[in-house]
Amino acid sequence: MTQLMIPGMLSDGGPMSMLGGSWTLGEAFLLVSFWKPLILLATLCAWGWFVSNVYDKHAARFFLPREQWNVFHLCMATLAVVLAVMMPIHGELSFWIGWVVMVAVLAVDVVAYAVVANKDDRVPEAFHINASIFGKMGEKKDKKEKVDKKAVKVLLAIKGADGRAVPAPQAESPEAELRAVAESVYMKAIEGRASQVEIGPMGQQYGSTMLVDGLPIKGDIWEPAVAVRLMDFWKSVAKLDLADRRKKLSAMIDVELGQAKKKVKVTSQGVPSGMKLSLLFDPEGSVRRAADAVGFLPEQYEAMKELTSTTSGLVLVATPPDGGRTTLFYSVLSMHDAYTHTVQTVELEPQLTLEGAKHQAFDSSVEGTDFATLVRSMLRRDPNVLGVSDIPDAATAKNVATADFSRTRVYVAVRANTAMEALEGWTKAVGDAELATKHLQGVVAGRLLRKLCVNCRVPYAASPDMLKKLGVPEGKGVQLFKKGGQVLIKNKPEVCPVCSGGGYIGQEGIFEVLTFGDDERALAAESNFVGVKASLKKRQTPSLQQAAIRKAVEGSTSVEEVMRVTAPAPAAAKA
Ligand SMILES: [Zn+2]
Repeated sequence: MTQLMIPGMLSDGGPMSMLGGSWTLGEAFLLVSFWKPLILLATLCAWGWFVSNVYDKHAARFFLPREQWNVFHLCMATLAVVLAVMMPIHGELSFWIGWVVMVAVLAVDVVAYAVVANKDDRVPEAFHINASIFGKMGEKKDKKEKVDKKAVKVLLAIKGADGRAVPAPQAESPEAELRAVAESVYMKAIEGRASQVEIGPMGQQYGSTMLVDGLPIKGDIWEPAVAVRLMDFWKSVAKLDLADRRKKLSAMIDVELGQAKKKVKVTSQGVPSGMKLSLLFDPEGSVRRAADAVGFLPEQYEAMKELTSTTSGLVLVATPPDGGRTTLFYSVLSMHDAYTHTVQTVELEPQLTLEGAKHQAFDSSVEGTDFATLVRSMLRRDPNVLGVSDIPDAATAKNVATADFSRTRVYVAVRANTAMEALEGWTKAVGDAELATKHLQGVVAGRLLRKLCVNCRVPYAASPDMLKKLGVPEGKGVQLFKKGGQVLIKNKPEVCPVCSGGGYIGQEGIFEVLTFGDDERALAAESNFVGVKASLKKRQTPSLQQAAIRKAVEGSTSVEEVMRVTAPAPAAAKA
């Protein structure tokens, strides 16, 4: 029954409603003659084939803003069709005028892409769009048929910022070469246990620098043209604006190498001589460490527990630039229970989310706000604990110093090499010693130390001189280790497979944990830093150097590394 009803409904309802209603120009046009719309359709199809088969592939190949271009093409096509259909419907001549207008609009679209694409640095001269592209189209197709569908073998499964997999490029194409370079950058960094790899200008060329256990290691060198495409490849995967070579942009992507899956933070930023791009591997994991695993000595850890058992007053958290600051900052904050207390942060760039804590990122693009004002408004909310990640200016320091410390514990991260340096720097930033130190509960300072590879470290008996220099009591049979790098395999020395010959693997922190009492606060209020130091020394608080020596005596690092890290001008001075 139903089957019989449908044709009836169609023949009655369909055309009837069309004849009964008022006609649109387009409908009228359709009824005028059947070959006219066919000509328009054929023209549109030819243009559409060209744009999708030549232009879209060209845009994809050279990382041009493909989506924006497709929207542009679509708008132009719509305009062309509308103009053609809007032409008066009677007479041959007006139809042909409409057709010419359509062709003209589509031609403008084709020329516009060619002009803009040819001006783009990313498109090599050999791939500029000119009249020869139409000639080449035929012959190219024959060749393409043979290599087509032969995608190059890729080692990495890369997922873009949009969660979609980046397809493997066609074999023997420029993208295949580029992909190979991009993959080798990643593989070398992973094999070298780098936490980060940075590509940036080096003199006339571009080079890569890997960060391994906090130390920079030079990598490959490229011509600027190759480096720019390489950086654009990673930027396009991260869906960052390729045209923006100034502002700091970043996004997360996923990269899989076999079973090893990593989150990678892609960041690009303009530098005076061009642009730099960094790939930061597993950024959350690298800063997320339990407070008892960052390297505090047992008595320091006890002092930290004491310090974080209250929620009032001010604590400074100090590290040299690039010296594990974020790790220390988050570890200290995580010692407060974020479920029984409100723990909040104000940060220029949050690196991870602490469970239960509220992170407030500072957005510099919002006009009329500054970091100092944001800090003040956060303090007004009276959280139990507030972490302030940076003191970019005197106004921020002032706003923190005048907080109501009876209601809030404030942790301020500062850049300093030692706890005393942090105290002096903070006092200077506030500009009033009494105000700066009135509520000071403590200063925690840290640095990073490389750990010896346990597989190849070389034991040696320390000389009495050395022990004296280190301040270690003699006659305890102290066993020290130095870096190895080689192991004996079947009595033949070979490169240690664990550390690849470097002798070190991983890092841990060394710290100073100074807790302030009334005596120290009174001395600090008079800017008597020598007095503060003397007062703390009486309590036998371990210094950074003493903490480092303890690590050497425990065998987790070498005396050389202790000297490198605790020398008066630390390695971080390079930054
Ligand atoms: Zn080793």
